[in-house]
Amino acid sequence: METKRSFIDGVNPEEELINEGAKWLQAGELVAFPTETVYGLGGNALDASACAKIFEAKGRPQDNPLIVHVCDRAMANNLVEVWTPVAELCVQHFWPGPLTLVLPKTVNVPDIVTAGLDNVAIRMPSHLVALRLIEKAGLPIAAPSANLSGKPSPTIGSHVWRDMRGKIPLILDAGACLVGVESTVLDVSGEVPTILRPGGISKEQLEAVLGEVQVDAPTDNQAPRAPGMKYRHYAPRGEMILLSGPHERVVQRLGHEIRRGHARLKKVGVLCSLESAPLLHNWFPDLLFVLGSKDRPEEVASNLFEGLRLCDERGMDLILAEGIAERGLGTAIMNRLQKAAGHRILHI
Ligand code: AMP
Ligand code: MG
Repeated sequence: METKRSFIDGVNPEEELINEGAKWLQAGELVAFPTETVYGLGGNALDASACAKIFEAKGRPQDNPLIVHVCDRAMANNLVEVWTPVAELCVQHFWPGPLTLVLPKTVNVPDIVTAGLDNVAIRMPSHLVALRLIEKAGLPIAAPSANLSGKPSPTIGSHVWRDMRGKIPLILDAGACLVGVESTVLDVSGEVPTILRPGGISKEQLEAVLGEVQVDAPTDNQAPRAPGMKYRHYAPRGEMILLSGPHERVVQRLGHEIRRGHARLKKVGVLCSLESAPLLHNWFPDLLFVLGSKDRPEEVASNLFEGLRLCDERGMDLILAEGIAERGLGTAIMNRLQKAAGHRILHI
């Protein structure tokens, strides 16, 4: 299939491009579009065969359910059987935005969307292109991240182009996504809200509005409640190690690991903070990618997946990543880094 990549204005989206995207969606085809978190691979959530194409294009395991994107409450009402009081609070405070709510589904939601679960995951994105596209199509849009399954999520149009070229008819490219990590998935079907996946809205932000918030922390023989959390995600091709601990010691150890990598004839890429970069030049890593200031996790989040992808593109055999404090958005960043590293973590 020939893929068209159209550049669209994120602030004043061109009407003819929105119309074109909406037509493909109504015809049961897939369109990649920007959201404030990452790029989504969208299909009509009410059409099981359109949703099947999403799984196929991504190579996504069938047991990993899809998040449905809506543009208003009426559209959400058609998909959700029961709105709990805590869900209402979330809608008031965090929609549109990077918070996905898990709630009991209506019969309108095909089984393929929820992978057979009784709950549906639903979100109203804040990106104007996403909102206009959903509104114009007049359909709820199932949209996982627009990457090949297992790879880092796409945060710029060229990431999508690389992964989805030849598989879908249209990519709407509006440049970089603001947040850079995926939405927080919050189960609000019960009394105490539970984070199933950390993301763009932090636990601290949720607690300020909702009070007690739990985190789904499955033990070794338990399945996570968000099925997707069991898969190795965001994985670059090279071996990856995450280093976490006090800043000075991490920098020292990074230098040591670069040298060890070179001694093993590895091409070594380093993903580090703005503060560490000047201290690492002298160790001559093959790629030194600055994620952002360690005190500005929003910056780190927005550069994270580009850094991981660049390591692949430049053929790094060994990737060393500097950790970040696990609070606020830092929790989601560390979750992605840990997965990318296949849980090879050095606590220093
Ligand atoms: P992605 O769209 O690739 O960012 O991943 C969506 C995440 O939401 C995955 O971890 C899914 O397992 C999770 N998810 C989607 N739908 C549900 C649901 N109905 N119940 C629990 N988790 C879900
Ligand atoms: Mg994904």
